[in-house]
Amino acid sequence: MIRRRRYRFLGTVQGVGFRPFLYRLATEDGLVGWVQNRHDGVLAEVEGPEAAVNRFPGTVAAQLPPLARIAFWEGEDVNPCGEQGFRIVQSADGGEGTVHISPDAATCPDCLGELFAPRNRRYRYPFINCTNCGPRLTIINDIPYDRIHTSMASFPLCPDCAAEYENPADRRFHAEPNACPVCGPQVILLDAGGEILAHIDPIAEAVARLKEGQILAIKGLGGFHLAVDGTNNAAVRRLRTRKCREEKPLAIMVRDMEMVETISEINDIEKALLAAPERPIVLVHRREAADIACEVAPGSPNLGIMLPYTPLHHLLMKDQFTALVMTSANQTDEPICIENAEAVSRLAGVADGFLVHNRDILVRCDDSIAVVAGGIPQVLRRARGFVPRPLFLHRSFPPVLALGAHLKSTICIVKDNTAFLSPHIGDLETPQARDYFDGSVPLMERITESRPEFVACDLHPDFYSTRAARQRGGPVIPVQHHHAHIVSCMAEHGLSGKVIGLSMDGTGYGTDGQVWGGEFFVADERSFTRRGHFTYFPLPGGDKAIREPWRTAAGLLRQAYGKEWPAVATALALLPESCPADFLEGMMSGGVQNPRCSSLGRIFDGVAAILNIRRRVTFEGQAAIELEHLAAGRSGRILPYAVRKDAEPFLLDPAILVRAIVAGFLSGRDPRDLAADFHVTIVQALAEMAGLIREKTGTLDRVVLSGGCFQNRLLLEGCVTALKARLFNVFFHQLVPTNDGGISLGQAVCAGTIISDPQARE
Ligand code: ZN
Ligand code: ZN
Ligand code: FE
Repeated sequence: MIRRRRYRFLGTVQGVGFRPFLYRLATEDGLVGWVQNRHDGVLAEVEGPEAAVNRFPGTVAAQLPPLARIAFWEGEDVNPCGEQGFRIVQSADGGEGTVHISPDAATCPDCLGELFAPRNRRYRYPFINCTNCGPRLTIINDIPYDRIHTSMASFPLCPDCAAEYENPADRRFHAEPNACPVCGPQVILLDAGGEILAHIDPIAEAVARLKEGQILAIKGLGGFHLAVDGTNNAAVRRLRTRKCREEKPLAIMVRDMEMVETISEINDIEKALLAAPERPIVLVHRREAADIACEVAPGSPNLGIMLPYTPLHHLLMKDQFTALVMTSANQTDEPICIENAEAVSRLAGVADGFLVHNRDILVRCDDSIAVVAGGIPQVLRRARGFVPRPLFLHRSFPPVLALGAHLKSTICIVKDNTAFLSPHIGDLETPQARDYFDGSVPLMERITESRPEFVACDLHPDFYSTRAARQRGGPVIPVQHHHAHIVSCMAEHGLSGKVIGLSMDGTGYGTDGQVWGGEFFVADERSFTRRGHFTYFPLPGGDKAIREPWRTAAGLLRQAYGKEWPAVATALALLPESCPADFLEGMMSGGVQNPRCSSLGRIFDGVAAILNIRRRVTFEGQAAIELEHLAAGRSGRILPYAVRKDAEPFLLDPAILVRAIVAGFLSGRDPRDLAADFHVTIVQALAEMAGLIREKTGTLDRVVLSGGCFQNRLLLEGCVTALKARLFNVFFHQLVPTNDGGISLGQAVCAGTIISDPQARE
């Protein structure tokens, strides 16, 4: 019996070698027919003996190429037509867009083998790639994903490359970025002023200059890096000075896994994450004796490590460096540079030279950051390698654009049952970051082929993103910050219905106009009730407290000791001379620049300031991070705290806890022990609050953890253990950031839910 079936495959099926893969499977099984890229996926017809036709989709699913993902497929019978052979037919334009573009992928082992094989025609060619690896999103300006829609359009294939491109049996069949030294992009080295250095081998010269301690801007996949020898302390210091980046840890690229094991204590899950095609920066524990400049991550027990992910990285690093600092090429708070001329002008005075090339970066994409917590990989910054892979939702939604929060901004488009997050945009503090944000909206609309009418944004009236939502002109749906956090975590786990949500965070705008960030919700995708929160404490100076945690400490002392607080502040030598206690007391009693705050993130900062770990910081979260590091490896004892359950919302009052920490510190207890005590106490308190809410509500046994505080591994792992011990089902982030990078997803799903069923809106 001869049968012919037409199959449609949806998902990440273009630009990943899917058509040659179908070609190979079909011809190996004696099937005839064709395959075609379309706007709505990949369409294939196969004809042959019934048994072979029937097993075709199963074989496809079982043997997918490394970068391909099938979200959905369907098949229908059509009439056999007795054609000869199997063909790959030209892409068709038009129709509904549901094709998923692949993220960029690290150089694959096959290409790496060729890169260092002296007889290969691409020996040491910095742009080698194939259907299983290389640039994707970052070179695309439209879909479908064909060479004419990429920045490779300006490089006509030479006959050798064209033969590979057209041969279905070749590893480079329809590899759109395919190139070689004859026809493809080239690297050049520019001096500090942007003049071309001719008559040199640019890569060898770059290596030599890096070895001398120079700072080079290097064009990568999604933007420029600033590179400097990671073992040269003076050179790294110089980079910090020029980039105005005082203490925030710098990422390093380590030349291979063997070297990674030499400098860090790394487990198998972390190794797999480091070596994955996404090649994120992974935060790992450094070895004390590691030959890495202390200026890379001053005072931190951790290192942010990545492996080389482009051929150019491999050529620079092989046998040359233990590690290169590879930090995003920008001035602090600005987006990463992507254009050659832009790099030369924006990095003037920072870079001593520029290793550039003539393949344009069309989509800006920072390095992603991930960490293993509780044995599970978690993405903390989602960009290169992950974007634009969609997240699949448990139901379908009408199209919604969500514009995220203010810090660690991302945007998200939800469409049907998929959510597409933009690359990490950053803090919307500078005009450059705001331009990047503005440009991300049309980019995501192009990628998803949609222009949603509905826009979701934060409740904060003054955020740049909130104003952008209003300017768009369509219906705007504001979503409370901590509700969005909880729903983002629900969305990635496919949860619906009511859950207990613990949103432990830096700061977010509350429905009462105060600063929230230690919230216990009963929530679903539509709405939430605030069943508990940390007792409000004053935050003298408002947002200034983020950079000056001594302010938060003063607020906590005021809440813990009432009018007696100045004496305690004096005993702790807490306040700077410029800000005497009576001035602050005036602020805190008068209410000017003095919001009330329930943020656990700020409590971490304040406790770090009380313990004199850090009273001023040079980057957000620094004090809290150092408090975590200090506590690591110690067991800790539970200190007193109070839960006020006479009325709702329940209040978790940290006053007695603050008094216990102050007393311990003033009596000379080791701050490391006090830091550990603080962590276990907070874990215990959070678990008790969750238990209390379950009691009051009856049946809820799912607890969802979200918010920036859960980047703290001690807190996250402690909470998971404590909640599981109370027989809760615990959910935390893996695919999207637990910090504000995940907010846009939560906003989109909240808004989508409300739009789908507007009557039920409360
Ligand atoms: Zn490859
Ligand atoms: Zn070529
Ligand atoms: Fe947040």
